[in-house]
Amino acid sequence: MGECLFCKIAEGVIPAEHVYEDADYVAFEDINPKSPTHVLVIPRRHIATLNDLTAEDRALAGGLIEVGAKVAKRLGHEENGYRLVLNCNADAGQTVFHIHLHLMAGRTFAWPPG
Ligand code: 5GP
Ligand code: ZN
Repeated sequence: MGECLFCKIAEGVIPAEHVYEDADYVAFEDINPKSPTHVLVIPRRHIATLNDLTAEDRALAGGLIEVGAKVAKRLGHEENGYRLVLNCNADAGQTVFHIHLHLMAGRTFAWPPG
């Protein structure tokens, strides 16, 4: 996807503060953090929204959560906790159409979210 911001971050064409990378995922600092830790975890493969996931993507979608938890633990949030968030389309506030898991930590969060 030539015009996708997060594909370009995954490829290294657009710079970001990367905190984790492997063959299938990239995690980097959110440019406009809403908590002391605010990392975005993305699959390298372009998937626009959660609506585009299929049964074939179960391992990829599960891996997204596994990487989010791994990065959370590496950053020292295992004990105090953290929040993993996936936004889909307008009502949830999705603004970048390449699926991304928000890893947020370092403060307490309200429930339900606003
Ligand atoms: P969404 O609202 O789609 O769930 O989340 C998109 C997130 O991407 C936002 O938290 C926003 O701050 C972040 N973001 C948007 N553009 C950039 C960028 O160019 N670089 C980085 N690192 N994060 C971005
Ligand atoms: Zn993309």
